[in-house]
Amino acid sequence: MDNCLFCKIIYGQIPSNKVYEDEFTFAFRDINPVAPVHILVIPKLHISGLTEINHENSDVIIQITETARKICKIEGLESDGFRYVINSGKYGGQTVFHLHLHLLGGRKLNWPPG
Ligand code: 5GP
Ligand code: ZN
Repeated sequence: MDNCLFCKIIYGQIPSNKVYEDEFTFAFRDINPVAPVHILVIPKLHISGLTEINHENSDVIIQITETARKICKIEGLESDGFRYVINSGKYGGQTVFHLHLHLLGGRKLNWPPG
């Protein structure tokens, strides 16, 4: 999609620190990490966020979670644990409107979030 930051990252128009790519997904390190491991996993299909998920496109949820699982193994996060976060809308703290899963790990994460 024109003018979408993450679509531009997928197509290399904006540089990123890529950690994984396959037919359906792309993953790269967050520019402003909040944990030692902070990776964004996105579908190549432009979907603005969780509120746009429906029966036709819900495969993307499986695709991004499968990719995140592979990265957990690559990054060695399985033994100590990790967290997936998908922010939605203003109260959820979403700032980029291309669906993305935050994969966080490498330190003890607080609960509940602030
Ligand atoms: P959100 O707040 O929408 O859940 O997450 C957006 C994330 O994208 C933030 O954690 C932010 O640091 C990250 N981000 C924003 N712009 C860029 C960028 O140009 N490159 C990378 N790698 N991450 C970005
Ligand atoms: Zn996009």
